[in-house]
Amino acid sequence: MMIIMKANATPQQVEAVIEQVKRAGLNVHLSQGVEATIIGAVGETHNLPVERFERLDGVQLVQRITQPYKLASRQFHPEDSVITLDGLSVGGNEIAVIAGPCSVESRSQILETAQAAKEAGASALRGGVFKPRTSPYAFQGLGEEGLELLAEARELTGLPIVVEIMSQVQVEVMVKYVDVLQVGARNMQNFNLLRAIGATRTPVLLKRGLSATVEELLMSAEYILAGGNTRVMLCERGIRTFETSTRNTTDINAIPVLKHATHLPVILDPSHSTGHANYVAAIARAGIAAGADGLIIEVHPDPASAVSDGKHSLKPEQFAELIQQVGQIAQIMGRSLVTSRAFQAAKNGWA
Ligand code: PEP
Ligand code: MN
Repeated sequence: MMIIMKANATPQQVEAVIEQVKRAGLNVHLSQGVEATIIGAVGETHNLPVERFERLDGVQLVQRITQPYKLASRQFHPEDSVITLDGLSVGGNEIAVIAGPCSVESRSQILETAQAAKEAGASALRGGVFKPRTSPYAFQGLGEEGLELLAEARELTGLPIVVEIMSQVQVEVMVKYVDVLQVGARNMQNFNLLRAIGATRTPVLLKRGLSATVEELLMSAEYILAGGNTRVMLCERGIRTFETSTRNTTDINAIPVLKHATHLPVILDPSHSTGHANYVAAIARAGIAAGADGLIIEVHPDPASAVSDGKHSLKPEQFAELIQQVGQIAQIMGRSLVTSRAFQAAKNGWA
């Protein structure tokens, strides 16, 4: 249920409504937009008459949120959410590009990739240290040692770091190091993990499950939002279909569908959605043209020797070319790419 306050409602009236919502045993989620103040009352609202809140001073309108996801819905939060992390904003006019290797393999590999990604214009660095591998015998990641290497790469380049978390037992160590917690496709419905992440205040990149619907992705986001962690970005990374010519099928449709349904930023991962370096740039361009707020791209200094996902990893020079192309598409869309230079300037407070 959402309680829309009148434009001239006083802070005392807002407070009084919040008090009533709490008294009804519901959770309060306040959305203070430019246009309106909306009080989200989330919980068992079926038997609660809307009149109970409609009568209160300062209330304009009480509406039930029709979608099963509430806090994630555009109905609850009509304006786009802009998520800021350390000078970088995602979901506004600028397009963010997260780049880096699938896995952190060594100090030289991550520092070299970070530097190259930054020079090409990336606005954040990715790297996996806890890897969800299909085979238990495959490389599982460097763990905390990898986090230390990523922190060193952040120090060197100034780029915020995005790292996948696999289990709630990793929350403590991860929030110590990372700027964005990535929830992988295989964990999209690990509800215990989602709840644990919802209890943190670290921004999240939530990837769509291999065979999850858009609605299921939004319900997973709702778990994190319900815990009070509002900085959630969604990621389309391709879904399983009958098609075998690419690793997954990029659901480009999901981008405008999500932008319509939710206020949360939408990122596209053309690396895992295609599974092949030859197709990454084309799908990256399509994603930005379709309205994505950013990209996450796997880059490796020597893809042939990568321990994971070398097949779709771009060489730094291929990534630099992709950035150029995507920048032009962004311009046509009336948006701009946050290049690392602009990002660093914003971070340091330069004009
Ligand atoms: C990854 O980002 O390296 C990864 C494992 O992605 P996904 O969860 O989308 O498969
Ligand atoms: Mn990967």
